[in-house]
Amino acid sequence: MQIGDLEVLPVRDGTAYFPASQAFSGTTAEDWAPHSQLLTDDGLLPLELGGFLVRGRGRVAVVDAGVGSITGPYAGGAFLDSLAAHGVTPEDVTDVLFTHLHFDHVGWATQKGEVVFPNATYRCDRRDWAHFVGPDPGATKKLSPVESRLETWDGSRPLLPGVDVLAAPGHTPGSTVIVLSSGTDRALLLGDVAHCPVQLVDDEWAILGDVDPALARRTRTALAREIEGTGVPVAGVHFPGMRFGRLLPGEGGRRWVVP
Ligand SMILES: [Zn+2]
Repeated sequence: MQIGDLEVLPVRDGTAYFPASQAFSGTTAEDWAPHSQLLTDDGLLPLELGGFLVRGRGRVAVVDAGVGSITGPYAGGAFLDSLAAHGVTPEDVTDVLFTHLHFDHVGWATQKGEVVFPNATYRCDRRDWAHFVGPDPGATKKLSPVESRLETWDGSRPLLPGVDVLAAPGHTPGSTVIVLSSGTDRALLLGDVAHCPVQLVDDEWAILGDVDPALARRTRTALAREIEGTGVPVAGVHFPGMRFGRLLPGEGGRRWVVP
């Protein structure tokens, strides 16, 4: 994906598979029938794990850092190889941006207590740092080693050339959408404002794990209304194939279209 002079590439770490109606509580097989293209032949919902590489204007930025080298239902391990396939070494990375600090987005921040991207400035919303680092032992262990190279932001603002952060609270207190722009071109990285494109189409679908489910829903609905019909490509790290799509208005409701 090219946004003017910014290049955006998926960085895969792994894929988790969940029974679809289990991942989205209250949904049934009937609810999923119109969205079968998002499911595997066995009816499982793939949840991609990883992040995005944003390259251009002298920056090599990573937006979210996968789940890390762990096993279990959320298995990762491929992140650094995926970066290498894009010609990027850990030393090349200038900025690591976290849309929020859940474990499946900070996995490669550090490994075994060592900073993975030695030349990078690590960045996240101040509220997520306060919510997770300290109160949450797992996040504290994972993220404390980057504290000396941390710069937090505080709500919506321009962050780097061509990169703005947009506060999108609810999933976590400091959940953020990354807005990439170059000239008149724009694209959005949604973080976990939506875990699956269906959540942009149907306002009622909620995933387990929102810190404030009601606020998460209001944020998601407002964002979906804002981007509907604009033609702006959007992607979520957990979306199938990490592919960008567009949200189109339609008589029967919004439609998600992947080019
Ligand atoms: Zn996530």
